Amino acid sequence: MTSLPTYEEALASYDPVMGLEVHVELGTRTKMFCGCITTFGAEPNTHVCPVCLGLPGSLPVVNRMAIEYTIRIGLALNCTIATWCRFARKNYFYPDMPKNFQISQYDEPLCTDGYLDVIVDGQAIRVGIERVHLEEDTGKSLHVGGATGRIHGAEYSLVDYNRAGIPLVEIVTKPIEGTGAAAPEVARVYVTELRDLLRALGVSDVRMEEGSLRCDVNTSLSPRGSGVWGTRTETKNVNSLRSVERAVRSEIERQAAVLDGGGRVIQETRHFHEDSGRTTSGRSKEEAQDYRYFPEPDLVPVAPPADWVAQIRATLPEAPSKVRARLRAGWDVPEAEMDAIVNAGALDLVAQTVAAGASPADARKWWLGELARRANDAGLELADLPITPAQVARIAALVADGALNDRLARDVIDAVLAGEGDPDQVIAARGLAVVSDEGALNAAIDQAIAANPDVAAKVRDGKVAAAGPLVGAVMRATGGQADAARVRELILARLTQ
Ligand SMILES: [Zn+2]
Repeated sequence: MTSLPTYEEALASYDPVMGLEVHVELGTRTKMFCGCITTFGAEPNTHVCPVCLGLPGSLPVVNRMAIEYTIRIGLALNCTIATWCRFARKNYFYPDMPKNFQISQYDEPLCTDGYLDVIVDGQAIRVGIERVHLEEDTGKSLHVGGATGRIHGAEYSLVDYNRAGIPLVEIVTKPIEGTGAAAPEVARVYVTELRDLLRALGVSDVRMEEGSLRCDVNTSLSPRGSGVWGTRTETKNVNSLRSVERAVRSEIERQAAVLDGGGRVIQETRHFHEDSGRTTSGRSKEEAQDYRYFPEPDLVPVAPPADWVAQIRATLPEAPSKVRARLRAGWDVPEAEMDAIVNAGALDLVAQTVAAGASPADARKWWLGELARRANDAGLELADLPITPAQVARIAALVADGALNDRLARDVIDAVLAGEGDPDQVIAARGLAVVSDEGALNAAIDQAIAANPDVAAKVRDGKVAAAGPLVGAVMRATGGQADAARVRELILARLTQ
């Protein structure tokens, strides 16, 4: 087998074309066509009823809130909202779908023809939205006894229908062309932007790790300059933002190797593996005709009145991209710094910390530095750390006043994260404030000078840069609780006057 072409070699010969399908579970209280509740993590098969189990004689009823949420998404993505559309029955048999069909939308989606603007490396890219449609989610299979958790090699499988029937919106892009080597990054930034938008709309908790936001990545290669699209593959259920980027990149490299070797890319679904960063073959992809779609006979058409759509439009929040632009102007930070804040998932936190009185630079420093490190070590999102923006703002203020130095501030953060209370309570309880008693400092300085006569002599001769060991000795003597800059000032005043 020949080795894979490098990414750069692949891009020299081919232009990638992508299509992204994002599935998002709506945060409605009940399922799409029945009254079962949708809470995540319940005992298996406890949130089920005759409708979502597809028992004979049961009839579905559309969840009005799910329609409203889908229209909200469509409007936020600049789509046209259908004045009349129908659900369709998608026929297939998998054990995770108890009815043997899924109620979806086919040729009459609720929202069509929109776009989402994203910024990649300072460049605005308009991603076209083909359609936004509403369907019901499937149940969940658990394959037991195999090494990989997949059905191959498993001894038996269990199925949980709690998820079956939860409203699921599918957002499909138009083909994304012309992005060249930036394609993987465009894919990640698009999904990130879409996730932030959906969160701002309040329609879903968009947790990729819990599967409430899932992404399928279609990739094909077009020989450079030919304008002829190749066969695409669909990489399924890529479940982190980083994996979206890696999956596109890996498919570009793999398909280029197949084509360079004179082979054909097969139209199929593929699975992305987090560990290797590679995809492997899944099943050959069904065509639409395999699903034998027809209008769902158990449901009336959906015809949202124009005044209802107008009402929904009037309640749309400011788009996250606009919020970012507004905050960036107010904070006066460079684009790259703003990107770092957004990519760390810290935008709301920094904004709230600034609102609580911290400077933008301080808020950014604490959240992206010390706190990002703690979150990373604990395997948590920044927002899930048990410290509030107001507490971070208070710590920043204490550092600015000289009541804490950075090292003490880190101890205060540790204590707040450990649940010991507000910064001021922690400082009082642990005696963490900076030693500002000049008498105590002067005594420590006297000792340091006496113990390091050669260093003191150099400083007296005008080599002020040599004072470091003296500052260090005083800091040690005060248990790190002195303000190092103040200590240096006092030492220089003593030795050079
Ligand atoms: Zn039900």
